[in-house]
Amino acid sequence: MSWLIATLTSDRDLLLSGLSLAISVALCPLALVMFFRAMASRGRPRLAWLLAAAAAFGTGIWGLALLSHVLFTSHVLFPSATKLADAPSLLGLSLVEAVTGALGAFSLWSRSRGQPSFVMLGGAMVALSVVAMHYTGLAAHPSPLPPAGAGHGLDLPGVLPIVIVLVGVALLILFLGAIVTLVDVRFVLRRAEEAQRLRQLADAAFEGLLIHRDGIILDVNTSLTTIVGLPREALIGGHVLDFVALSSHALIRERLATKPSRIDEFEIILPDGTRRVAEVLSRSILHGGRPATAAAIRDISERKQAAARIEHLARHDPLTGLPNRVKFLALLKDSLARADEAAGFVGLLVLDIDRFKFVNGLYGHDIGDALLRAVARRLVALVREDTNDQGQVARLGGDEFAIALPPGRQAGTAATMAEKLQAALAAPFEISGQSVQISARIGIAFAPQHGETVTALMNSADTALFWAKRDERARIRIFEPAMESELQVRRRMERDLRLAVQNHTFKVHYQPIYAVDGRTLIGFEALLRWFQKDLGWTAPSRFIPLAEESGMIGPLGRLVLETACAEAADWPEALHVAVNLSPMQFQTDDLVAIVTETLARTKLAPERLELELTEGVLIDDAERARAQLVALKALGVRLVLDDFGTGYSSLSYLGRFPFDKLKIDRSFVSRLADDAGAAAIVRAISALAHSLGLAVTAEGVETAAQLDLLRAAQCTELQGFLLGRPMIASAAARLIRQQRKTTSSAA
Ligand code: C2E
Ligand code: MG
Ligand code: MG
Repeated sequence: MSWLIATLTSDRDLLLSGLSLAISVALCPLALVMFFRAMASRGRPRLAWLLAAAAAFGTGIWGLALLSHVLFTSHVLFPSATKLADAPSLLGLSLVEAVTGALGAFSLWSRSRGQPSFVMLGGAMVALSVVAMHYTGLAAHPSPLPPAGAGHGLDLPGVLPIVIVLVGVALLILFLGAIVTLVDVRFVLRRAEEAQRLRQLADAAFEGLLIHRDGIILDVNTSLTTIVGLPREALIGGHVLDFVALSSHALIRERLATKPSRIDEFEIILPDGTRRVAEVLSRSILHGGRPATAAAIRDISERKQAAARIEHLARHDPLTGLPNRVKFLALLKDSLARADEAAGFVGLLVLDIDRFKFVNGLYGHDIGDALLRAVARRLVALVREDTNDQGQVARLGGDEFAIALPPGRQAGTAATMAEKLQAALAAPFEISGQSVQISARIGIAFAPQHGETVTALMNSADTALFWAKRDERARIRIFEPAMESELQVRRRMERDLRLAVQNHTFKVHYQPIYAVDGRTLIGFEALLRWFQKDLGWTAPSRFIPLAEESGMIGPLGRLVLETACAEAADWPEALHVAVNLSPMQFQTDDLVAIVTETLARTKLAPERLELELTEGVLIDDAERARAQLVALKALGVRLVLDDFGTGYSSLSYLGRFPFDKLKIDRSFVSRLADDAGAAAIVRAISALAHSLGLAVTAEGVETAAQLDLLRAAQCTELQGFLLGRPMIASAAARLIRQQRKTTSSAA
């Protein structure tokens, strides 16, 4: 050790030796940095970096070896001037060996991908090249060992310039290498920063971004990994079709072959089998200096689902899930088109539940809804079974359903189907512990006979249903052209009705009502009459339903109320007037206001007005009706439950609503004399009414026998042809005068 220190301190060219040592030592790390740069680049730059690294490393090793020779063996290395001529070429060769070895090792390592055999092979290569370099270097002198007692100190008159040149070259390599590396590393760092920023930006995007070349994925962002459910590593290097569902392969393949563009919809398949719908927008870019395609992929599954849901809602009935009118008409249109081709024939059935309003009113809307759902299920089950899934069931609205039979069926099938449907609906429905029984009316029409278009066919089926609803016996009707003309008669009547209301061609007749003695007149019932030019007097049973359906009942009802009140105001104060109200009049909010105003205008005392209503009012919307009845009652008006006994559960209503009187229906009265059962019912009703503090009127009294029985049953008032028919106002006035005379003469 002391020898080494002595050598180093005593040498004349210590400075030179130190410099070469420093250069050599500095070249090795520089070589490493260059190697890593080579690893980070591709193609030509990579080769250049590998060469530079090998040059730096080789020169460093070589310089170090040379230094050791110069320091320790210079006196033997170059003992005579004769050997000097060979030395430079040998030294140059040894440098080439060092550089070549390093180049071999570096290129091996750059390909090793961490494989130990490659690493070891590279190491062996370096070691071999160092050994070769040494031997070549040693070949420049005869003996590698210094002779004993050889003097220290350099005597290098010829070698010095070579050493200086070599040191200079190494210095140059170091200097240039350092500058280039420094600039490049800074540039690379900046680029890495930029890339990082771009990556963050790309990862922040909601859309999946992907760069590919001919389908081979070069890069992706985080969103894309989420959309396709695969990690970045699995995607890069793979093919775009790897995550595309088989159903979209053809489409994607075709688009890959053509220009980049937009694909509105394709399917992605996730590793777990889930499918997603996506859209993609792509364009050409340059990636790594070569053309590639950038694609933005957006997951539109949710949007598609929402759109499908909206579409479903718009075309289906939310209660039953059946197609609604819109969808049904579209289906029917398809069916008609198919029938055209097959020269077949389409059957259309329109079905309406009888008295559905009544079910709703009696059991509540929840049960009404459940009933509609149950009806839908029965219809669907039957139609499916009967048509091999080819028939269509729809809910057109309210309690109306429609069934389209598949094209090609015979007319008979439709009628049979209608009967089966009726039978299926006739069986009681068990809903929330209630047994509900319903029936249905069906109208049938066929294409092309009854209509070639959807509208014409629907109209025909509707017309058939219209008549099925009005016919007590035939609950299924197949369209007939005559129905149209009947319907036209109805329409004409509707128009006339409108005109009659406007022109006041209605008359109010008055039928007297007597006390139970049959002699004391206590009031009149106002009954509407319509005189039609070609038909004469029309009974209310013919036009009241029409007025109700066409919305004319409101004005008509006001007209009767106004006329009857005005008339009664002229009568003696003891006499009352009874006016019939339609259930429809309770469906508007202004009924109470109308009655109040009419009473005020005609100056009739409220207690002299009786309003007669049927159970229909109570059934449709019990709570609302109750509120209106209470308000009417508060005016002082008296309320009469008309046609008692014909309804559904009449008795229960009596206690719940504020009635003053009930009217036993004509049908009971007419059977009184020869039907013991009817007599018993009348007695029971009367007793019940009395117990509730209600007066009892019997209507339709036609015979003296009936009168006696009613008297015995303790009815309080009587009305009927036996006592007096409905009469015009002047006749009623005359009757009143007569009555006065008889009573005053009797007194
Ligand atoms: P309603 O309220 O039960 O009226 C009694 C009906 O029985 C009247 O028939 C009357 O003429 C008839 N009648 C009375 N006594 C006898 C009898 O002894 N024998 C027979 N066979 N019939 C008798 P009308 O006038 O044809 O009225 C029928 C129904 O039309 C009425 O039944 C009532 O519900 C309704 N109606 C009449 N006028 C109006 C009105 O202004 N508005 C409303 N909404 N309905 C009315
Ligand atoms: Mg009445
Ligand atoms: Mg009646």
